[in-house]
Amino acid sequence: MRIDILTVVPELLVSPLNESILKRAQEKGLVEIVVHNLHDYAHDRRKTTDDYPFGGEAGMVLKCEPVFELIEKLQSERHYDEIIYTSPDGVPYNQHEANRLSTLGNIIILCGHYKGIDHRIREHLVTREISIGDYVLTGGEIPAVVIADAVVRLIPGAIGDEQSALSDSFQDGLLEPPVYTRPAEYKGWRVPDILLSGHEARIADWKHTQAIERTRRLRPNLLND
Ligand code: SAM
Repeated sequence: MRIDILTVVPELLVSPLNESILKRAQEKGLVEIVVHNLHDYAHDRRKTTDDYPFGGEAGMVLKCEPVFELIEKLQSERHYDEIIYTSPDGVPYNQHEANRLSTLGNIIILCGHYKGIDHRIREHLVTREISIGDYVLTGGEIPAVVIADAVVRLIPGAIGDEQSALSDSFQDGLLEPPVYTRPAEYKGWRVPDILLSGHEARIADWKHTQAIERTRRLRPNLLND
């Protein structure tokens, strides 16, 4: 899989994309993540990527030219399955969408900035708009990392125990049951006896019951979806 991320602030992506699972998945050749600086596609000597909005609104708007020229260049090199724009008014990102994206070959993630991007980019280039929540961030870089992280950990081989990604919260419509590690007793608080019993079937039953109970209590909407 290949993920191209387009941004006016590439520095924001350096550390998140180069640590932990995202780093290892790239080293293993499971995913190629390429960050592009939109300033490199500006037309003037000052590398301007934004301009004042028509109609007199406050704030600046990401211009068409650098975005179209960079994406058209990328499209001339390979096929892209999805051109994603991160946007507060996009479809809410969730595990189902991450699962879907993880099955694709090549995707582009366009990070907005300033007041937003020229609407013609959204109308004529973008194929999917994704929001990571009902709040407004400064730019699309953190959403791009959120999208990429949730996708890459699903690629077979990205994490040590593949089952672990599949047993995470939301994969089966339930939240994860509680998890514990050594010591079995800490400050007088004991790990539930069942987890120490070695009885696999009963442990599986306990986990399932816990998952349902926690989902009913914390996220009842998941049980009705
Ligand atoms: N004026 C825009 C609005 O009201 O929808 C918000 C612009 S925001 C300051 C700048 C950029 O950050 C957006 O273009 C988008 O790419 C990104 N962004 C901000 N919040 C986001 C969110 N919740 N989900 C995805 N992207 C977001």
